[in-house]
Amino acid sequence: MNTSDSNCKEGASKSNDDGVCVSDTLQSMSTVDNEVNDTSVCANCGKEGDNINNICNKCKQVKYCNAACKKKHRSKHKKECENHIQRLAELVAKSHDEKLFKQPTPAEDCPICFLHMPSLQTGWRYQSCCGKVICSGCIYAPVYDNQGNEVGRNQKCPFCRTPTPTSIEEAIERLKKRMEIGDVIAIFNLGVFYSDGTRGFSQDYTKALELWHRAAELGYSEGYLGIGNAYLYGRGVEVDEKKARHYYELAAMAGDEAARYNLGLDEWRAGNMERALKHWMIAARDGYSNSLKQVKRLYTHEQATKEDYTRALQLYQTYLGEIKSSQRDEAAAAHDTLRYY
Ligand SMILES: [Zn+2]
Ligand SMILES: [Zn+2]
Ligand SMILES: [Zn+2]
Ligand SMILES: [Zn+2]
Repeated sequence: MNTSDSNCKEGASKSNDDGVCVSDTLQSMSTVDNEVNDTSVCANCGKEGDNINNICNKCKQVKYCNAACKKKHRSKHKKECENHIQRLAELVAKSHDEKLFKQPTPAEDCPICFLHMPSLQTGWRYQSCCGKVICSGCIYAPVYDNQGNEVGRNQKCPFCRTPTPTSIEEAIERLKKRMEIGDVIAIFNLGVFYSDGTRGFSQDYTKALELWHRAAELGYSEGYLGIGNAYLYGRGVEVDEKKARHYYELAAMAGDEAARYNLGLDEWRAGNMERALKHWMIAARDGYSNSLKQVKRLYTHEQATKEDYTRALQLYQTYLGEIKSSQRDEAAAAHDTLRYY
């Protein structure tokens, strides 16, 4: 839950993150109040006027004519002030949960076969030539040239027909070009190379984080996941579990099923079965089969109902119905690296 001030600042300065914070909400509510009434009443002495603008700096809901009135009223206002703050914290938490437990928008369909894209990582490939994400079935299917002759598998991009890069250097060059035009996956992938110190990159966590923030700001869920991991393991930043969780939530909201599955595990460990179940239902609908196993486990331990488990099964079946294709089956049968569910 991101209701702390430390996270508010982070969210506000770094990106259009969905973090909601109590003090911002309090502030905005008092601003709204100001616009509606330009005359205010001092909560202490009852004086009216448009210069009554010494606001309670805790709840930001009452006004005074001066600091002396504020001080005088403090003991009387204390209880009400605490109630204001609590009520607003509840509202913030509720609005946060509404966003958190919403089924994310599905990924784009495969641009070749037009079928729903599998969420499993081996079920799709990113093409550094055109920046398209192609499903495993279309990656495996033979590619033909303009005369209709088969050009073999894995030699040309099935979407734009650019020859497959022949070296790591060439692949990196392409990624860099894609990055320059704001391709989120290219930006994210280069971040991974910096973080891992692989593919000729020297390890640089700061650079990795910078790229992941950029990818995340452009809406790529894995960017948030990378930042969350950095906070969890202290890579380039101090270990901060609260911030890690904040970024995992953003990743889940942006459609990352693995992040959502893990949020479910956190809730389950904390004994919040209902919240765990909610996360796993959403992840099951998005094709994360481990979530299904967890719902089954809750059911066998009598922590979820039979209806819950049946519902999770149905959600996962609906997902399978959307992604299944004979071309993808063929690819998966030929290579384990092209498994799609
Ligand atoms: Zn007063
Ligand atoms: Zn107050
Ligand atoms: Zn396809
Ligand atoms: Zn291409």
